[in-house]
Amino acid sequence: MTDLNYDVAIVGGGVTGVAAGIAAARSGARTVVLEPRPFVGGNATTGLCLHSFLTRDMRQTVFGIAQEMVDRLIAVGAAVGHVPYGGFVSAVTPVDGDWFRIVAAEMLAEAGAQVIYGASVVGVERDGATVTGLVTAMKGGLRTVRAASYVDTSGDADIATFAGCPTRKGEEGTGKMQPVSMLMHFHNVDTKTIAATIGEVAPAMATRPDHPEPIPVYFNGTFSAWNDVIEREGIFPNRDHKVFFNTVWPNRINVNTSAVFGVDGTDPLAMSRAMQDLTQQCVRAGNFIRKHVPGFEGSYFMPQVVAGVRESRNIVGEYEITKEDVLEGRKFNDTVGQICFPVDIHHPDTGQAYFVDVGGDGAFDVPYRSLLPQGVDNLIVAGRCLSATHFAHGATRNMAPCLVTGQAAGTAAAMAAGRNAPLARLDVSALQDRLAEEGAYLGRAFERNAATV
Ligand SMILES: Cc1cc2nc3c(=O)[nH]c(=O)nc-3n(C[C@H](O)[C@H](O)[C@H](O)COP(=O)(O)OP(=O)(O)OC[C@H]3O[C@@H](n4cnc5c(N)ncnc54)[C@H](O)[C@@H]3O)c2cc1C
Repeated sequence: MTDLNYDVAIVGGGVTGVAAGIAAARSGARTVVLEPRPFVGGNATTGLCLHSFLTRDMRQTVFGIAQEMVDRLIAVGAAVGHVPYGGFVSAVTPVDGDWFRIVAAEMLAEAGAQVIYGASVVGVERDGATVTGLVTAMKGGLRTVRAASYVDTSGDADIATFAGCPTRKGEEGTGKMQPVSMLMHFHNVDTKTIAATIGEVAPAMATRPDHPEPIPVYFNGTFSAWNDVIEREGIFPNRDHKVFFNTVWPNRINVNTSAVFGVDGTDPLAMSRAMQDLTQQCVRAGNFIRKHVPGFEGSYFMPQVVAGVRESRNIVGEYEITKEDVLEGRKFNDTVGQICFPVDIHHPDTGQAYFVDVGGDGAFDVPYRSLLPQGVDNLIVAGRCLSATHFAHGATRNMAPCLVTGQAAGTAAAMAAGRNAPLARLDVSALQDRLAEEGAYLGRAFERNAATV
């Protein structure tokens, strides 16, 4: 079969790959997004909040394609904007998962990016420090996809791994990774009663133009009130089990509470077993919730089709984002955007979530170098698998950061392809100018620099 040729090839049409594809195509590059599933949007399609656009003190630090997507989702009634919340984060941005994939696909098409569904990259061809092709399994057999620049948005750093770049997995020392989980979708619920019964603090309340009253759209809490029945019936392995709720609708809610431990998201056999375990766990938990928790009487539910991986491989790139970078809210000259969501780690052994706020002014910069794998010149990595320690990854893995780093990586890949220059030696100030032109936010320091030029 003949090779397929592009300027930029993006591997993985998840949250990050969507932003990368839109950015690269808008920059004029002939862009392809390769995605095994029959939809784009990755984990955002499971029905979650895009955490987070605003710092603890309610200063917005994420704009660009991320904000455009929220605006487009609001326009179709599938988002309610950034809603203040008094819990572990100051504002939440819930979106409908199915509408996310629909809007994402529209935006990719409008930008001119081609998406090939049913396409899994299973190897790379490499000549010295240059990736020369992607060995891609698709209907009909293996096909080689060639481009000047490649973007790894696979979540698992698959391309960097195939290319032989250094990577690492999980907690330093133990290699333990956060648990995998599966969302549940409940219909015909009374969200106000649920929030009043389980919410740790007052729920995030939003208004919709098509509904008369404000509705709860986000809250979290525990099933502590049902510890005895949970223990007796073996619903969850622990007491005081945590649960997270989100929605944009008046009478539907997504419930995030399942977990399977010790699963390596890059191992297809382990993931297949986890898929089965999670589905059964969701059925058990869903029946318990319907029977016992006020607000769920008369509801019906469905476990999500796919399981979500919080943590697997990360590249060890030209720079690794550290705990101190997060705790001090550090800034970098080669910033390509900011992250303001707290570190959010679901403990690898217990699954219980803990949160640590970003320090300094509440946001840290993502250095361009943290997107660059070592040893290859024309590959850039973004999203969940960029270069960060286990602790820092607790912040970088979330979806607003993924959209920020995806936009930066797609833009950089297009610029490098256009100039026939290696990504590793791209003029970062030119990239920053281009990102700023496209509405991305690079932080106050960059604004000051730009103003004095
Ligand atoms: C249960 C759960 C709840 C979460 N809750 C939140 C939340 O409330 N808010 C928040 O902001 N974040 C949340 N997160 C984190 C966040 O959703 C993910 O970290 C984020 O979606 C990662 O984006 P990504 O683009 O890197 O990966 P993904 O969205 O997973 O996309 C990766 C894509 O690459 C494709 N792919 C993989 N390998 C290949 C290959 N070899 N070839 C081609 N394509 C490939 C996949 O099919 C997929 O579409 C949650 C995560 C989980 C698991």
